[in-house]
Amino acid sequence: MTLKLGCIADDYTGASDLANTLTRAGLRTVQTIGVPADDLAMPEVDAVVVSLKSRSIEAGIAVERSRAAEKWLRGRGAAHVLFKICSTFDSTDKGNIGPVMDALKEDSGDRIVLVTPAFPETGRTVYQGNLFVGTVPLNESPLKDHPLNPMHDSNLVRVLARQSRTKVGLVDLATVTRGPEAVHAKLADLAGKGVGAAIIDAVFDLDLETIGAVAIGHRVSVGASGIGLGLARALVRGKAMPSDASAGGAVGGPAACLAGSCSQATLGQIARAEKIMPVLHLDPDQIIKGNGEAKRALAWARERLGSGPVLIASSAAPDQVAALQARHGRDAAGHAIEQAMADIAEGLVQSGVHRLVVAGGETSGAVVDRLRIPGFLVGAEIAAGVPVLRAVGAKEGNMLLALKSGNFGGPEFFSDALSLMR
Ligand code: ADP
Repeated sequence: MTLKLGCIADDYTGASDLANTLTRAGLRTVQTIGVPADDLAMPEVDAVVVSLKSRSIEAGIAVERSRAAEKWLRGRGAAHVLFKICSTFDSTDKGNIGPVMDALKEDSGDRIVLVTPAFPETGRTVYQGNLFVGTVPLNESPLKDHPLNPMHDSNLVRVLARQSRTKVGLVDLATVTRGPEAVHAKLADLAGKGVGAAIIDAVFDLDLETIGAVAIGHRVSVGASGIGLGLARALVRGKAMPSDASAGGAVGGPAACLAGSCSQATLGQIARAEKIMPVLHLDPDQIIKGNGEAKRALAWARERLGSGPVLIASSAAPDQVAALQARHGRDAAGHAIEQAMADIAEGLVQSGVHRLVVAGGETSGAVVDRLRIPGFLVGAEIAAGVPVLRAVGAKEGNMLLALKSGNFGGPEFFSDALSLMR
């Protein structure tokens, strides 16, 4: 297998989002969970997205894992490796975008790395280095209240500079609009001044194509699915390649949804789901105190699974999240709830659930790790950035999952997902 494109994603839902984008652009894509074992039976593909759960861990460990993934991808012929981050640049001053970028840059020998989380079709645009989420700057968006990575600065040149050893510059929209040659010239100029990473503006899909056309000539780039789209278009050059990823029979049996995201979008989706399926709201205090909340949830689910899908949610509004974190600490609360979600997922699968929808990036990571699923073939698109995933090499056999980043999906996301996961 010689890969056209290698990708390292810093969380699992982001990886699905990217794999979905690459598939739509015509690249046959597999998403793996962690660095694959050498004996993983993998179909012939153009791109592999190695999913790590490295967004919110210690920076040194994120670097180590990303380097291992890069080595695996380069070993399969990937000339270009994209480090896939969140389209809202989720990170802190400690990392992990900067430290991982620095390490990949060092290994690649590239003089300068292109960085952009822009993905206009999902409302993420970058102008003069400032990231907008829909109509508002990042620091005014709901991301300011994210439980793990609250974002208080929309200027990505500043944000990246605080977490990187590399001098950070900007390629502005005016340059991007003039096309690949102008971008090349600007990058050469920046590199000559000792700048090793450039945030690059993108407001329209066409900007991503320009960026992809330039980035593909480098060894490494950093960004969200938007730059992935640009890279894929540069590789495919208009010739859509057939994707066989959605092939496979119906799975059937009971289905369940889990929500650990506290994003506004997910809170709205849970409210809509209440109208069509039983919903259990977990008590996060009981989870953290270790009072058997997961067991209670499983018993509740088992009573209902025979009659249709169920949804179990820990999600809460920002004021409740803040109050819980004040009582128990941010990391302890997040970790305990993620592990409870993993316990519930494991119990559900043991009860015969082979169709599972999960909302929340970290939550999905905890669930997929616990289920020990090595990889996924990417299938039909449920919502922008969220494909149906068919497990590859899972011990339970045929299994469908949907892993949704908190902010993604329309109001009816849970029913939309289930209707495509037969
Ligand atoms: P998103 O994709 O929206 O960022 P994540 O699953 O990545 O969602 O992150 C949500 C974090 O919030 C997880 O660590 C999760 O365990 C934690 N969490 C879930 N419910 C609550 C709650 N009620 N209070 C505090 N934290 C919560």
